[in-house]
Amino acid sequence: MDFNRFFADKLAGLVEAGNYRVFADLERKAGAFPKALRHREDGTTHEVTVWCSNDYLGMGQHASVTAAMHEAIDKCGTGAGGTRNISGTNHYHVKLENELADLHGKEDALIFTSGYVSNWAALGTLLTKIPNIICYTDALNHASMIEGIRHSRCEKRIFRHNDVAHLEELMAQDDPNAPKLVAFESVYSMDGDIAPIEDICDVADKFGALKYIDEVHAVGMYGPRGGGVAEREGIMHRLDVIEGTLGKAFGVMGGYITGSKNLIDFVRSFASGFIFSTALPPAVAAGATASIKHLKESRVEREAQKRNVAAVRAAFDKRGIPHMPNPSHIVPVMVGDASKCKWISDILLERHGIYVQPINYPTVPVGTERLRITPTPAHSPEDIAHLVSSLSELWSQCALARQVA
Ligand SMILES: *Cc1c(COP(=O)(O)O)cnc(C)c1O
Repeated sequence: MDFNRFFADKLAGLVEAGNYRVFADLERKAGAFPKALRHREDGTTHEVTVWCSNDYLGMGQHASVTAAMHEAIDKCGTGAGGTRNISGTNHYHVKLENELADLHGKEDALIFTSGYVSNWAALGTLLTKIPNIICYTDALNHASMIEGIRHSRCEKRIFRHNDVAHLEELMAQDDPNAPKLVAFESVYSMDGDIAPIEDICDVADKFGALKYIDEVHAVGMYGPRGGGVAEREGIMHRLDVIEGTLGKAFGVMGGYITGSKNLIDFVRSFASGFIFSTALPPAVAAGATASIKHLKESRVEREAQKRNVAAVRAAFDKRGIPHMPNPSHIVPVMVGDASKCKWISDILLERHGIYVQPINYPTVPVGTERLRITPTPAHSPEDIAHLVSSLSELWSQCALARQVA
């Protein structure tokens, strides 16, 4: 087989379909977030303002976080030196797991190398090891949950997105004695909508199911201590597993699950993706712990973030730029055309120094192509004004429709 030819043909297919991904080569500037230096292919650079980061609160440059990481490197060096079981458990990991269990009001927590791995390994393990379990999964669940469920080869039912009645209908059709698990998210990344968590718990409880929630886009962001939407709604105790990431609002990297002592011990003891992988660097655990601790106490970042989301939405409304309404921190600006979406993004980057990655099919349905904008507390009023006037100019050049408020 001509492997090289095979790869090239497949890649050409992606380019043709408009799905080929080109990375923006950025150098983030600590102390100046959300500014970054962008490296062009010709070797030149220019400053850009990042408007699509998942470092939602700018914690990746927070003094308490960077200091904690520097200190841990100086004390413990770089890597963990092993898997958790073979010399890799560092005291910083233990402290982080205690911090996370406390954040979600759970008995215990377990950290993984990423949120992706935490979903894949936890769901994969629970659904493989619990005999005859049936998994009910929201139609818009993240790839990491889908892969974990698929890996387990368990029976699965997909319920329509956030449709509690459909979930109940599906659960009622199955053997009442079969063990069940319901897997869903709180804040969905692309539309920024929020699940009816309490209603889903009510239905799941009727059928005695385990309740597994991914709060990746919500941890650090919602609730009085940044415990997520379930904390804000006072219902963390109703969820058996709360999963999250340390890489988005907490600004570092890694993933985790929290739950009862036995459930966590079970995943710790049976999950291949946990057992056979080198533990996170101690400094990463130290930085994440500092970030969580800070956001438990401080609401300044969350409040400034909310103000900026409102300011960006109001400025778009003034210019008639359509953005999808939702109750979260994610502002999807609806372009509705793949090539215009990419063109606007390219021009914003090259001519206006504004970086927003275009979101096209297959990440979102055809016709709903968008710019997914994530305002942070660090965006200034000038940044907002520049974003909105630049986008407005390109909106006219593309002859895109405006929405009369
Ligand atoms: C980003 C994301 C993950 C994966 O988390 P990482 O820490 O980035 O691996 C899991 N679930 C959802 C919904 C996500 O958006």
